[in-house]
Amino acid sequence: MVVVPPVLFDAPKRSPLTHAIMGPIGPVRDGVRRLVLTLPSYLFIAVLLLACAGLGFVQPWQTAAVLGYNVAGIGAFYVLVRTGMAQALAKDPSLAFQRVMFNASMVMLAYALIPLARGLALQWLCMTILFDMRRLSALQVRVVAASAYAMLIGVVLLILEVSPSSIDRDAEFVNVAMASVTLCVLLVVTHIGQGISQHRKAQKVELERTVAKLNALSVRDGLTQLYNRRHFQTLLDEEVRRSHRCRRPFCVAILDIDFFKRVNDQHGHATGDVVLREVSRLLQNAIGPTHALARWGGEEFLLLMPETALADALNTLEAVGRAVREHDWADHAPGLRVTLSAGACQHGQGLNLTPTLELADRALYQAKHGGRDQVVAVTA
Ligand code: GH3
Ligand code: MG
Ligand code: MG
Repeated sequence: MVVVPPVLFDAPKRSPLTHAIMGPIGPVRDGVRRLVLTLPSYLFIAVLLLACAGLGFVQPWQTAAVLGYNVAGIGAFYVLVRTGMAQALAKDPSLAFQRVMFNASMVMLAYALIPLARGLALQWLCMTILFDMRRLSALQVRVVAASAYAMLIGVVLLILEVSPSSIDRDAEFVNVAMASVTLCVLLVVTHIGQGISQHRKAQKVELERTVAKLNALSVRDGLTQLYNRRHFQTLLDEEVRRSHRCRRPFCVAILDIDFFKRVNDQHGHATGDVVLREVSRLLQNAIGPTHALARWGGEEFLLLMPETALADALNTLEAVGRAVREHDWADHAPGLRVTLSAGACQHGQGLNLTPTLELADRALYQAKHGGRDQVVAVTA
């Protein structure tokens, strides 16, 4: 057997270099793509720091330390995501939580080293959390906010201890107070946002479930759960095309419960319904998985037997008739007996289905007139 490798639709558009950088299509590429999306914000920070260093606002070593941390972190994330190790380490292949924690630590490093950055730190921190908010769980957002706050307090205390002259105590007090308010607001906004998105997700699941239910209902008969006539018509049309293409025979049979009116008259309509359901179950069990069955009308069923010649169709129909005849109907109503008659027809190559169904109907008529509880088979 020759196994042909799958052809990916976007394969021709991707250069080998892009493939090498972005990785295989799937979670790895999604993770790398997500990482690439964050690059402009890192680049912006890098350009800003370099410009400040160039203008003499910031010491070159301070810029180098923050940029070095920045580049090393992004590099490490790229390796983890691109090699697929991220998937092994965390459920999220883009490592959103770990990246947000890293960003918070980078902001704090800039806060500790660059006095000029202290006024911007909060906005920077909020931006990094908001960017990946959708990917974080409620608990992760809380952990990020609490860690960022703890880091901020730690860094402020450290600066006060190590280099008290480099810090403006009043400004730091305002910074810490603002951080408390901002992080609390962020938590509330995240909570509301996640509530809305969870509600949307639940609505989507419910909608999908309802559509699946409606689809199932639209092809089934309500009483017997067999295929309904409308859906079966499409199955029959497909079978005609397939048989024409593959030059394989198929048969159809119309099955009709004998004297069903009497069942209703003698035992009541409810028992009649039970008989219809029970006959459907017996037929379904007797025909096997390759044949298909529909409720064609009141107490009439249509059986489609793909890739079946008339002799095999007859065997199946005899087994079906036997199953119904020999079933213990007295369980449902004392003295109840149920049989069925069937007319079968092998479809003629190149014909449409109408004459085949007419012949099957005529064969059923003959079976009825021949004394019922029997099968008559013809070829189109
Ligand atoms: P034959 O052997 O010639 O087929 O006789 P029959 O009595 O089975 O045929 P007839 O066409 O005279 O009667 C069919 C009956 O099936 C009449 C109708 O009330 C009954 N029927 C059709 N649909 C349902 C249904 O959903 N539930 C019940 N209980 N009866 C139904
Ligand atoms: Mg009948
Ligand atoms: Mg009938």
